Amino acid sequence: MGRRLLSRVGCDCPLCGARVAGARLCPGCQADVTAAPTGAPPRCPRCGLRPPAGASHCAACLGEPRAFSRTVAAFDYEPPADALILMLKTQLRLSMAPVLARLMAAAVRADAPLPAGILLVPVPASRASLRQRGMNPAAEIARGLAAELALPVPSHALARRRETPRQATLGRGARQRGAAGLFLCTGRVRGRHVAVVDDVMTTGSTVNAAAHALLKAGASSVTVLVAARTP
Ligand SMILES: [Zn+2]
Ligand SMILES: [Zn+2]
Repeated sequence: MGRRLLSRVGCDCPLCGARVAGARLCPGCQADVTAAPTGAPPRCPRCGLRPPAGASHCAACLGEPRAFSRTVAAFDYEPPADALILMLKTQLRLSMAPVLARLMAAAVRADAPLPAGILLVPVPASRASLRQRGMNPAAEIARGLAAELALPVPSHALARRRETPRQATLGRGARQRGAAGLFLCTGRVRGRHVAVVDDVMTTGSTVNAAAHALLKAGASSVTVLVAARTP
């Protein structure tokens, strides 16, 4: 169904079932999902984590150099918002992609503006997860985000060099080792600002590997746009 038509028909808020206009959360659920925990410090601009109160540097960024310069996350990956990710990735509800994209677009608008003409590049799915889901959640979200922000999504800008065990089953060190050199830039990004799009950012090693590949291919800068950040 086209977006314009979708915005005119009634839908149900995926979290509470209230009637809403189009693929979106109701205002109450949106506020619940995107609100920072009471007294929580602002996210690290580079990696999107909330550092402990009073910390002047983000320990995660000090411990692991980042190829990307900025991260915008719509919400923390914990209840109730994690249900939105599970609906897309586990229940394969494709209608959740525009809902997540809308939340991410709102987070971008509340943050600093993105560089003009920035390219949206979804993290490529592994062959195993593509086979299992029949779609790449990151690519579905990037498509929704492109419509929200009027930005281009070049096709096949990144490819996987190899298949890896599912990141979710690995520990932190194994994730970092497993992600190094994981991607190859197969599109034209020289001189362009690029935003890597993913559903969930956990340690950041996957998006970091994507950022490395893009910078190596001449991208001017890499920003990370994720729906959820593991706190
Ligand atoms: Zn609701
Ligand atoms: Zn950080």
